[in-house]
Amino acid sequence: MATVVFQSRDLTAASSNQEGLLDYVNLLHGTDSGYYFSNGNTLPLVGMPWGMVDWSLQNGTGGWFFSPKGTVNGFRATHQPSPWMGDYGQFVLMPQSGDLVMEPKARLSEYDTKTAVLRPDYEKIDLKKGGITVELTPTERCGVFAFTYNQGDVGRLILNAYRNAEIKIEGRTIYGISRANSGGVPGNFGSYFVVQLDRDITKSQLFPPVEITNRPAATNQGTAVNKPAPNPKDFNAYVEFKTSPASQVIVKVGTSFISWEQAEQNLRAETGGTFQDVRERAAAAWNAGLGKIEIEATAEQKKTFYSCLYRALLFPHRLHELDAKGKPVHYSPYDGAIHDGVLYGDTGVWDAFRTTFPLTALLFPSQTGEILQGFVNASNEGGMLPEWPSPGERGGMLGQHCSAIFADAVVKGVTGFDVEAAYESLKKTATDPKAGSKARNGLAGYLKLGYLPAGRDCVSATLDYAYDDWCIAQIAKRLNHPDVEKELMARAQNYRNIWDSATGFMRAKTADGHWSEPFDEFLWGGSYREAGAWQSSWFVPHDPAGLTALLGGRDPFATKLDQLFSMPPTYHFGPGGYGGVIHEMKEMPPLKLGQCAMGNQPSFGIPYLYAAIGQPWKTEALTRQICADIFNSSPKGFPGDEDTGSMASWYLFSSIGLYPFCPGTPEYVVTSPVFAKVTIHLPGDKTLVVSTSDNRPENVYIQKYLFNGREQSKVTISHQKISEGGELHFDMGPQPKIGKIPDQDLPYSVSTKK
Ligand code: CA
Repeated sequence: MATVVFQSRDLTAASSNQEGLLDYVNLLHGTDSGYYFSNGNTLPLVGMPWGMVDWSLQNGTGGWFFSPKGTVNGFRATHQPSPWMGDYGQFVLMPQSGDLVMEPKARLSEYDTKTAVLRPDYEKIDLKKGGITVELTPTERCGVFAFTYNQGDVGRLILNAYRNAEIKIEGRTIYGISRANSGGVPGNFGSYFVVQLDRDITKSQLFPPVEITNRPAATNQGTAVNKPAPNPKDFNAYVEFKTSPASQVIVKVGTSFISWEQAEQNLRAETGGTFQDVRERAAAAWNAGLGKIEIEATAEQKKTFYSCLYRALLFPHRLHELDAKGKPVHYSPYDGAIHDGVLYGDTGVWDAFRTTFPLTALLFPSQTGEILQGFVNASNEGGMLPEWPSPGERGGMLGQHCSAIFADAVVKGVTGFDVEAAYESLKKTATDPKAGSKARNGLAGYLKLGYLPAGRDCVSATLDYAYDDWCIAQIAKRLNHPDVEKELMARAQNYRNIWDSATGFMRAKTADGHWSEPFDEFLWGGSYREAGAWQSSWFVPHDPAGLTALLGGRDPFATKLDQLFSMPPTYHFGPGGYGGVIHEMKEMPPLKLGQCAMGNQPSFGIPYLYAAIGQPWKTEALTRQICADIFNSSPKGFPGDEDTGSMASWYLFSSIGLYPFCPGTPEYVVTSPVFAKVTIHLPGDKTLVVSTSDNRPENVYIQKYLFNGREQSKVTISHQKISEGGELHFDMGPQPKIGKIPDQDLPYSVSTKK
């Protein structure tokens, strides 16, 4: 087998004990979802860790183009990170024999779900219509198909490309451009692809026939940004070729955002050797990634865990490609030009800063450094660090949470990116109302008042901005910019400006300082994003002691949390809030966690608040309950939108027993480990073992825990200890270990650590 050099330095450590982990990944995890109710809203993606293109089965249209019904009408090259964001640059291939049927609904075929193999590195589907076996294996920017046509001696391959697409056929190759997108791209955007057959094409047709013009590809002059062409049209084609049941038809598909030449270059670089060779390389990369964590657990727990770990490694996507000399280059969706260097996109930063990026920083720091340099390049080309790049900036959520991602990387010692450039970009968009208006909506008002005045999202955004300010201050501190640090640490206290002690919630306040009326603690939307006052008022991860003081101390805080978890899951909509029921509301009641809406990111930290205020035993019981009851490996296995690795990573951290309560602090809140033993392989050949004594389903309470034999008193453990490796041991029991925990043993707080 050829020597393989993986692009990610973090994925070079496959060893024999990691074989078999891919069998635990359920590609359908979370896919049984819809517009009105989400059990993950995921896709069955065959692809590579942080690859550029993924491959999905297709049996529908729009953002929800797949549901697990055992049917398929195409194999889609996709970049879609979430159905709410939509796809871009997609195209679809579908093998067929017998009568020609182009229309996707009409050509839909059932497949044998018993013989189907659905894995990240390899897919095998037996189509009932036409008797065709489809095998597929991915590379970072390409895919290789092996089709076996079991009926007749003519095989057909149908191609759909979208939105002013171009298709031409030359020799054994189909060339195509898909200009499909959902925004976030300039006019010259295109996904170039080449489909190379291993045999002569005997017949072909284009629908409609389209003349290929010498349309210029993107140039490095930055001037080839065309206006979107009017009347976008989809173009389709098919080709036919000779087949026999005894032989596979190998079809290699290369993709590029730069040109057909680059797509061919990507094919040459990534798909060398046989189908089996390509598959072995894909499996090795996944085994190296999944093999970072070994667990002693039941088969179902392993399925849930590794299905989550697979999801945690899919996004963000690489957007750069390697030229003939191996140098990274990329088409920029920000300015339409070709630039040197790396680029990443397709991640919801508002979602992913909480858990996805902390997980990546712990397990794959080199990869994290490369992703962050990609974000710095995005800032250079687009004017701000990305918040919802897909592929260019799409916006739509709140905050400037690259602050948290970069601060977390900096305090955890991640390198490989231009930290000064990142800091300058963050500082500019946090302090200059003109530059910051896109990154931080309403920044001018926030700077003037210390809060966003009453209006859409004002409470959620004020809390987000105050935390982001604190995060940028952490970077300023390490880069020795004391004036900026001081200014932003003061701004980090802005959460106090919207605290209403009368109602006990964060509330909308008018520009002249009055509480906005009427107030409804159960109303979702309006001042709050994808939540209401009950879910949103706690988001002060950088200063739990300050929030505790606002609530009147630890006991009232705990009482209010008890109330939150035990009260009915009431939600309201209507005037001043959402006009109707959004899916995140509907997903809350089935969880039976009161007002803790674990199906959505604003509630991720709520179970950990108990630990933050000195009642870790309640966090321990809760996280065990959530891991056991509302996560599983099935197509309905997530409590809401998975969102680019964030919900999967919540489960991974929580089930291990460590949680990044406040990204930007180098520490984890400790909670009750789900598994008897977890072994984490860390960079530098370090190993962390998380072991437990007497860990049974009823023994959810930590009696004591030790690091390298020493009993620990804090509810947090430092990143330094974790990343150095060693043994973290927990004695478990059925009764909570209740006691007074001193302030210094609680999570980081501005208010206690001046
Ligand atoms: Ca969400």
